[in-house]
Order: sequence, then C-alpha cells, then structure tokens
Amino acid sequence: MISLTETFVCTFSEKYPECVIEENYDLAAHTTMRVGGKAAVAVFPETAEQLCAAVEICAFRGIRHAVLGHASNVVCSDEGYDGVIIRTEKLCGISVYEDEIVAECGASLNALARAALNAGLTGAEFLYGIPGSVGGACYMNAGAYGGQISDVLLSVTAYNSVTNTVKEYAAEECNFGYRQSIFHDNDSLTVLSCRLRLCKGDREAIGAKMDELISARKEKQPLEYPSAGSFFKRCEGHFTAKLIDDCGLKGTRVGGAMISEKHAGFLINYDNASCADVMALSELVRSVVKEKYGLDIEREVEYLE
Ligand SMILES: Cc1cc2nc3c(=O)[nH]c(=O)nc-3n(C[C@H](O)[C@H](O)[C@H](O)COP(=O)(O)OP(=O)(O)OC[C@H]3O[C@@H](n4cnc5c(N)ncnc54)[C@H](O)[C@@H]3O)c2cc1C
Repeated sequence: MISLTETFVCTFSEKYPECVIEENYDLAAHTTMRVGGKAAVAVFPETAEQLCAAVEICAFRGIRHAVLGHASNVVCSDEGYDGVIIRTEKLCGISVYEDEIVAECGASLNALARAALNAGLTGAEFLYGIPGSVGGACYMNAGAYGGQISDVLLSVTAYNSVTNTVKEYAAEECNFGYRQSIFHDNDSLTVLSCRLRLCKGDREAIGAKMDELISARKEKQPLEYPSAGSFFKRCEGHFTAKLIDDCGLKGTRVGGAMISEKHAGFLINYDNASCADVMALSELVRSVVKEKYGLDIEREVEYLE
C-alpha cells in the first residue's frame, strides 16, 4: 500500500515536477541544533503558490507536515518525522518601496536587515544576527535588544489551509505578544510574506548599530556551538538565563548536550548530542529552577516529533 508521504510526493510532483523533493531528509544536518533523525520527505517550494499547494495537499489528505524556515528554533526527535517537512528557504525575495519592505517568508532576517541598511532605512537593525527567517520571526514574534518584529510590521500575508484562502492581516490583527502571534496559535496559518515600515536614517549609523549588535552576540552567545538560541522563554519578572546561572547549572551536561558556560540560556550541542540528551537536559533545568525558585520556565524552542 502506498504511504501518505508517497501520496504527497506523487500528487505534488505531478503538479510541480520542477520543485525539489528529498526523501529521507536528514534533520540533524539541516537544523541549527544539529540533532534529530530523518524526515520521510522534505519539499522546497520556490513560489507562494507551490508553498500553499504543499500545505493544502497535506492538510486535505491528513498528511503530517511542518513548515520550517531556517530551522533555528526547533529541536527534532531522534526518531525522525513521519511526515512532510516544507522548507521555505527558497522563497527569499525582498523588495524595497520607499520606506516599506516586503519580504517573502523564507528570506533571512540578516538579508532583511541588510536590505534596510542598503536603502538607508532604520528600525530593523535589531533583527541582524538572528539566524531565522521572516516566517519563523512572524510566527514567534522574534526580537532582540529591545525590539521585536511586530514593532515594525505593517501586515503579514498568510495562507489558511482550512479555508484554502490567502489573507493579508494588518499587524493589529496578528495578536502579537512576547513570542506570541496568531500564526503561533493557529496551525492552519502559514506565513507567506510580510510588509514592514521603517524610517529614513543615516546609513553609517545603521551599519554601526548592526556591527555593534553582532559584536555583542559574539561576545555573549556561544555561537561556536550548534544551538537553537535561548532555549527558554523569559519568565515574568526574571531573566531566565540568570535564574539558570544562579542555580549553578552552567556547564551541566547530559550526554553531549550542555548548558553553555558563556550564556546559561543556551543549551548547546557540545559533543554529538542526541535530541534525547537535549530534552533531558532541558527537563533537568526546569526541575532545578522550579525547586529553587518555585518558577515554571517554559521552552521557547519548538519540539518536532
Ligand atoms: C544562535 C541563535 C541566536 C538566536 N537569537 C535569537 C534572538 O535574539 N531573538 C529571537 O527571537 N530568536 C533568536 N533565535 C531563535 C530563532 O532564530 C528565531 O526564533 C527565528 O525567528 C526562527 O526562525 P526560523 O525560520 O529558523 O524558524 P524555524 O526554526 O524554521 O521554525 C520555528 C517555528 O516557526 C514556524 N514557522 C517557520 N516558518 C513559518 C511560516 N512561514 N509560517 C508559519 N510558521 C512558520 C515553524 O513551523 C516552527 O514552529 C536564535 C537562534 C539561534 C540559533
């Protein structure tokens, strides 16, 4: 009998023979945390139409699927993923119209910040150095150094797989909060693109700010090891990394996973960690923080199983 993922491959490639599809896709090799087994199938749409079609086929036929941008905020199970990974990285167009920028979901935040710099637009500098995509950033309202993407968004265009329609959501309709959005809350929405409004600025000052932020990242974050960034969300009224540090957990290891010595909020793949190592270490951190401070810290990173 033909499996659901084989059904996807047949249906999708019949419609879009030019689109790249990979079977037995190695998740460890293609995620920044560098853990995980194989996904049955990965597809790489190059247009919004192809992306919508991939999601629609999966949703309509009940095929498990996950849309991933740059896979920098995800930890994948060692058992792999019995479904379709839809990667958006080829949808990476960025256009500048005076003080507005339209970016496709797979565009990198670095490319977006550089496009703003080249156009002499200020307001997106804080995105520089976040290794994610526009879609992933809208999904979780990515932010750093006092800014979050919702601060500069005018609208987000998304595909709804239940109604099979595309809609442009004004930023106010997106329910943005700390690491929160309607895209996060609603599985049937896939971000296709977004529109930002920035301000005219001084190119030299914008570039200097971006350099400063990259230097701060290099100094404070363990960028030399694979990770998914800050593993836990901010905890109301506390810096989670400080709580973890104050519990004396820096350098704690489970298998090949370690709490970074440089930044206690980062769980790093120190030495060929498995996903099980990472998840066990994160549970250890949660239980020690709970025991010492009575606080429940929540994972920011998505778990794909
Ligand atoms: C070294 C390092 C530093 C980091 N620093 C920061 C930081 O300063 N601030 C910060 O906020 N984050 C940071 N991150 C985390 C991460 O880069 C961001 O969360 C980024 O926005 C995730 O984008 P992505 O494309 O990698 O998402 P992915 O990891 O590919 O996906 C994450 C989630 O978003 C969903 N998603 C992705 N694309 C779409 C789409 N088109 N439509 C709907 N859902 C989608 C996925 O389904 C998944 O649930 C850091 C990560 C690393 C490794």
